[in-house]
This record gives sequence, structure tokens and C-alpha cells, in this order.
Amino acid sequence: MIDKRLTFALVTTVIPIITLLASLAAELLFSKNQKFIESIKQFKSGFDFVYFILFSIIVFVLSYTFYPLLENQDKNQTDSILILIFFIVFFYGLGPLLYPIVILFRSSRYEENKDMEKIIQVEMNYAVKVRIVNRELINAFATGILPFSKIILIGMPLLTDLTNDELKAVIAHELGHTKKHHLFYLMLIMIVIQIIIMIIYNHMILPFFLLHKLGWVFKGITFGLLLVLSNEILGFFQRKMEHDADKFAAKIVGKNSIKKALEKLNEITGGKLQVKSISHPTLEQRLLFIEESFSNE
Ligand SMILES: [Zn+2]
Repeated sequence: MIDKRLTFALVTTVIPIITLLASLAAELLFSKNQKFIESIKQFKSGFDFVYFILFSIIVFVLSYTFYPLLENQDKNQTDSILILIFFIVFFYGLGPLLYPIVILFRSSRYEENKDMEKIIQVEMNYAVKVRIVNRELINAFATGILPFSKIILIGMPLLTDLTNDELKAVIAHELGHTKKHHLFYLMLIMIVIQIIIMIIYNHMILPFFLLHKLGWVFKGITFGLLLVLSNEILGFFQRKMEHDADKFAAKIVGKNSIKKALEKLNEITGGKLQVKSISHPTLEQRLLFIEESFSNE
């Protein structure tokens, strides 16, 4: 019992590490050869070691604590599905809930910026926290699902490399994510997709393999394919949300400002916005969408 429990907790703790390494690998694969070092630098400046360790410890402790729930085999099907849902919600909910709290407590890495908060309050009519990531990160993010934890993160280089108008446009885009609750919906979509996948896998695919005596390789391949599919579905929604945030920004700062800001961002990241990715439309698609959204106005 104890052995299995420990193994389970270790496996669940290692999953985020594998995901992290996989995303680093994807980052490197998508970047052009000569930009390897630049890509690693960007990855490192966005990576928060303290948050990652804290996250891993909590996953380990919770997995270890709640493993007996999963172990109990004499439960009926409804119970086992409920337990599965609990684990999935806990996995996908923990990160988005924990990250903003870590940011708020780490004021040396994430510097408060009252001026920017005031600009958003006055010009965009919304109260949100702004933190400057004290690193070389050429990017901006919106984070936080709970009301008190809504934060817009801005990489330090953007303050110097962008003009005031461009910076406002980038902030307006991130505000779009915040105001339209994109993070919450993404988390929800992720949870629903994972629950459906686990139910399909446990109740349709595993029994099939049991019947046909195919080995773990086939189980692994099927599971892998399901994960790829789930990534594609999630990516579809993420790309929609990017367009949505661009449109939101265009309404606040004007379509030319947001277009200029995107082009500049592409320039200072060495063409990163032009590269095809699962989570973001390409620069061309974004510019076209903004243009089309306002063509009949
Ligand atoms: Zn965005």
C-alpha cells in the first residue's frame, strides 16, 4: 500500500517536470537553429524556480494524501468517475490558482508598477494589478482567475523597446484576456477535455485492449494520440481567444495601434510572432483578423 502510494505521488509530481521539458523541446524545435540560445534565454527568464518547486511539493503532498481514494477498488463506476474528476480538477486548477499568489508574494522578481495600474484604471476603466517581470522576458501575460489575483505581467524589455502607444496596446490585449475571463474558460475547457479523455480511455479503450490482449505499447500510443488531440482542441480555443483579445485591444487603442504593436513585438522577438504555433495565430492571421473585424465599421 505505502509503496504504491509513494510511486503514485512521485509519478504525479514528475508529470509537470516532463510537461516543462516537453514545452522547452517544442520551443527549441520551432525556433530557427541560430536562435537556440535566445530561445533558452527567453524560456529561462519566464521560468520561476520557486513557483515550480512549490507547485511540485503541493502536488506531491496532495497526491500522497488522497491516493487511498483512488486505491479503493470496491467502489462503483460513478464513484470512480467522481474521484477521477476530483484529481483532474485538482491538477488543472492548482497551477492557475497558485501562480498569481506566488507573484504577489515575490515582489523582488515581480515589481509593482503603480503608474501602469493608474493608466489602465483611467484610460481603460479597469482595476487590475500590474507587475514587471524583472528579467529579460520579451513578452506580456495575463494571469489570475480569482478577482484579487488578476495580474498583468510585463517583461522588462517591453518598457524600453516599445513606445508608449505600443505598450498600451499590448496591455489592452492582456486586459482583454482578463476582462473576458479567458484564463478561467481555458482551465474549464482543459478540465472538460481531460475528463472526457480519461472516461473514453478507461471505459472504452482499456476494456477493448483487455479483450484483444494488445500490449502496453498500443495503450501508450492510444493515450498519446488522445493527448495530442486534446492539445489541438485546446489550441483551437486559445487561438480564438488571441483574436478576441486583439479585437478588444483594437476597440480601446484603435486598430492601427494594436497592429503596429504586434509588428513591433514580432520585430524585437526576432520574428517569433510569424512562427506557426498551436496556441497562437500567426502575425499575418492576427493582422488580417483585426482588419476584417473593423472593415464594415
Ligand atoms: Zn494573448
